[in-house]
Amino acid sequence: MTFHVVTIFPDFFRGPFEHGIIQKAREAGHIDIRIHDLRNWTKDRHRTVDDRPFGGGEGMLLKPEPLFDAVESIWPERSVTEPRPPGSGLEKKVVLLSAQGRKFDQRLAREFASASELLLLCGRYEGVDERVAEHLADEEVSIGDFVLSGGELAAAMVIDVVARLQEGVLGNRDSAIFESFGEEGLLDCPQYTRPAEFRSWRVPEVLLTGNHEEIRKWRRKAALEKTARLRPDLLKPDLLKPDLLK
Ligand code: SAH
Repeated sequence: MTFHVVTIFPDFFRGPFEHGIIQKAREAGHIDIRIHDLRNWTKDRHRTVDDRPFGGGEGMLLKPEPLFDAVESIWPERSVTEPRPPGSGLEKKVVLLSAQGRKFDQRLAREFASASELLLLCGRYEGVDERVAEHLADEEVSIGDFVLSGGELAAAMVIDVVARLQEGVLGNRDSAIFESFGEEGLLDCPQYTRPAEFRSWRVPEVLLTGNHEEIRKWRRKAALEKTARLRPDLLKPDLLKPDLLK
């Protein structure tokens, strides 16, 4: 899968993709991450990307022209002169990072993971001319109900989450299924490693028994309990029925 990022701070991305799983996935060719400098698509001597908001107000906005030109130059087939029919562009998605967007979660990540390419547009300053959300982006996406100073951190996060869902990126295919927010939407179960006793805290005895059926049951129950305690909003009511705790 190919990820494109359009940003006014390309150097921001030196580092985040150079570690661990993501680094290995790039080396193995499972993913390709291309960082583009928005200023490449400016036409004036000062390489201006921002301008003042109509109607007044504080701060500056990213202008629409360089963003449209960037997308149309990275994906020439994607010339946006007319409104696109809904549902088009599923293979290649333009995503605008925005505090006002649809909330990013594992479900949306799975949806993005089935695209062949994602192009992420990073806002800055007070935001982005709304015509980018209206006519250029397929999705306007927020990573949470808070305001960042730019879309770069959010883009890095989306790439990390979507990349690890690509075939071959995680060593063991199962590890993406039995994680938090997997098929059942629960949190992962608590996990322990050696030593079995640390500062007088022992790991649950069942994990030391080697009895796989008992361990499976314990893990499921522990995952349900932890989800009920920390994220009750994730629980569908029938998951707590006693027979499902088996
Ligand atoms: N004035 C805007 C915030 C602009 S912050 C508002 O009140 O909604 C500048 C840029 O940071 C945004 O254009 C967006 O690209 C990015 N950003 C800020 N918060 C974000 C969030 N929660 N998720 C994704 N991107 C975010």
